[in-house]
Amino acid sequence: MTSHLTNSDQPLRKIDCHVHIVGDGSSGSKCWFNLPSIWKKFLGKLMIKGVGLPTSALKSGLDELFAENLLQNIKSSEIDAAVILAQDIPYSQTGEKMDSEAQFYVPNEYVAKLAQKHKEFIPACSIHPGRPDALEELEKCIEAKMPVLKLLPNCLNIDYMDKKYTPFWQRMAEAGIILLTHTGGEMTVKVYDPSFGDPKKLQRLLDCGVTAIAAHSAGRSALFDSDWTSDLINLFKKYPNLYADNSALCSINRARTLKHILPEDIQPRIIHGSDYPVPVSGLGPMIMRHLSWNQFRTSSKINNIIQRDYQLKKNIGFHNHTFTRMDQLLKKNTSK
Ligand SMILES: [Zn+2]
Repeated sequence: MTSHLTNSDQPLRKIDCHVHIVGDGSSGSKCWFNLPSIWKKFLGKLMIKGVGLPTSALKSGLDELFAENLLQNIKSSEIDAAVILAQDIPYSQTGEKMDSEAQFYVPNEYVAKLAQKHKEFIPACSIHPGRPDALEELEKCIEAKMPVLKLLPNCLNIDYMDKKYTPFWQRMAEAGIILLTHTGGEMTVKVYDPSFGDPKKLQRLLDCGVTAIAAHSAGRSALFDSDWTSDLINLFKKYPNLYADNSALCSINRARTLKHILPEDIQPRIIHGSDYPVPVSGLGPMIMRHLSWNQFRTSSKINNIIQRDYQLKKNIGFHNHTFTRMDQLLKKNTSK
């Protein structure tokens, strides 16, 4: 009780709730990545350059280079901390690992270790609820004080409405673990089933009492993706435990989602996130008339994409509370 009171007396931190970790296993992390096509290789290089690393980092030493560079980017920005994400493997309906369907893997232990070393990192585990050891792994992550769990249901092959996952959601709700889940379209990672990105699929776990954050506000990525943002906004009325992040919306392909989540009555549900190392650009928001030419030009000169995304979101019109809301949720949930 006392520690909870002390906690809530501290000013709220500005948190980026959606930051990916990437690694090659060179430090013993057991991370790996696989860029199967020329297009993915091009994207990989673009992202590595975008965060301020040489493309040679993709060949060796990526674990330490990526983590150290991210830490410096956070420290030299106005963001106080970032939720760093583990990434699990897809599993079949019958619980078999599908390694060949995965493009990258980041183990929970590695993310937990990074967060133990640096207060700027808040660890998010990733556990496919259909894994044979899902509940055991969840207990380990609760024990390791990982307050967030990240999933990409469309890429990991998870139908959230499947009844067999109920005990998993119940345990998450009881332990106050926040779910950060991909919603909407996806272009960077291979999609297994696009319908699993529908936010209406979140209803079972929301009914179980899990606090959930719908990443990308369920917007479209590719031109012909389904657009579920209005469904998400409808769900806000029914579920006070549902939030959304504005990650990756500073891009040409996702900027059209911004206008739906800027209204005053929606912003109390919005949480700041970048989707680092995904490129951040003011061009899309400027075309959609959320930024002036000068604001676009000024933001383009900021090399640190954690800071550039923060600056752009402020200029676009996201209120201060969207940057501190993640800390508020973390405090509320860890006091459970
Ligand atoms: Zn992401």
